[in-house]
Amino acid sequence: MAELRIAVVGGGIGGLAAAAFLARAGLACTVYEQAAALGEVGAGLVASPNLVRLLRRLGVLPEFLARAVAIDVGWEFRRWADGGVLSAENLAEACERLYGERTYTVHRADLLSVVQAAVPPAAIRLGAKCVGVEAADDGAVLSFADGTTTTADVVIGADGVHSTVRGALLGPSPATFSGLCAFRALVPAADAPAFALRNAHTLWLGPDHHLVHYPISAGKLVNIVAFAPAGEDVVESWSATASHAQFAAEFEGWDPRLRELIAAAGTPGRWALLDRAPLARWSHGPVTLLGDAAHPMFPFFAQGAAQAVEDAAALAVCLATDATDPARALRRYESARRERTARLQTVSHERAHLNHLPDGPGQQARDAALSGQDPLAANAWIYGHDAELVP
Ligand SMILES: Cc1cc2nc3c(=O)[nH]c(=O)nc-3n(C[C@H](O)[C@H](O)[C@H](O)COP(=O)(O)OP(=O)(O)OC[C@H]3O[C@@H](n4cnc5c(N)ncnc54)[C@H](O)[C@@H]3O)c2cc1C
Repeated sequence: MAELRIAVVGGGIGGLAAAAFLARAGLACTVYEQAAALGEVGAGLVASPNLVRLLRRLGVLPEFLARAVAIDVGWEFRRWADGGVLSAENLAEACERLYGERTYTVHRADLLSVVQAAVPPAAIRLGAKCVGVEAADDGAVLSFADGTTTTADVVIGADGVHSTVRGALLGPSPATFSGLCAFRALVPAADAPAFALRNAHTLWLGPDHHLVHYPISAGKLVNIVAFAPAGEDVVESWSATASHAQFAAEFEGWDPRLRELIAAAGTPGRWALLDRAPLARWSHGPVTLLGDAAHPMFPFFAQGAAQAVEDAAALAVCLATDATDPARALRRYESARRERTARLQTVSHERAHLNHLPDGPGQQARDAALSGQDPLAANAWIYGHDAELVP
């Protein structure tokens, strides 16, 4: 049987994870990445057990552990005015006992290079911007900005939230403006207040705003991401910036420890959060989507990258076990993944409202609910999931 020609569009965390899991399953692919070099814009992310167990299977855990921070306390919700702790998860011993892995924080660029280590270097084509995908008798034809084309038996669109492959497959699927924007900043550990250096993932909740911080890069940096009303700003870009004064003004009057952390930050990045509803379908014939191209989600459950890697693991299982009928394999992949990712899109969406309640009865009910639950057990459906067990 001839080898399947598999094209992955996009060399972000999802696209590289797809190439890594396909290689592990004995399937070759080519990753087409538009950028001239692989890299991730600077910010951190939380790597939950459902992601970490997949990194372990790729054989890259030692490299990951050398760059990540093992988190002892996570989802530590604090009150904006005085830092009172509303709820916290034990992410050390209890997390490992329940889910077989701990939770870590990591710089996105580090996670990308760790996943890249499991991809054969010859599989990656840089400077290859895909501009179109069309069905053909023997698969699909990809066209690139430099005028070249290539034919593949399977096309995986892992090209992010503004996916060209999704546009080619489903037509325009416009986003709505969420009304929220995010500030992000990195603070060198030497400049950060001591409370921000704990191995903790902390979220401060207040009226119309919340702010998240945790150490990354083996403790050398503190990552901050903060959410606020966006005003007129509707640019969804990782490279846009705001002034430090704008950032600080959003958190005027908050707990002095938090203000001290903000004061230590340099010029923050700022971008608008756009909102997209779950897709009813994302595989058609030999073409499918993966990661943010299929199911972009608000970052409030910290699951976007984890879901992209889960997609990659499930997709490799489906293609490896049904290589003679790739379209059927892609439909199986989609049905294994759609409900779970749609649920995460929905709960992440709902948390925007909950995190930003003004002080009053609604906020008091939220805080009581937070303190009354066992958050680690409540998230079993997220952390306990094994993406390679495809029905
Ligand atoms: C503030 C914030 C915090 C987050 N925190 C977390 C967290 O704690 N935990 C977590 O798991 N997730 C988190 N996420 C989500 C996570 O970062 C994303 O879901 C994840 O990076 C998506 O990966 P992807 O590979 O699908 O897409 P992307 O990372 O967007 O990669 C897409 C790639 O495709 C390339 N590309 C695009 N178009 C083309 C084209 N036409 N041709 C060729 N190449 C193309 C791009 O250059 C890029 O390299 C967070 C996101 C945000 C915004």
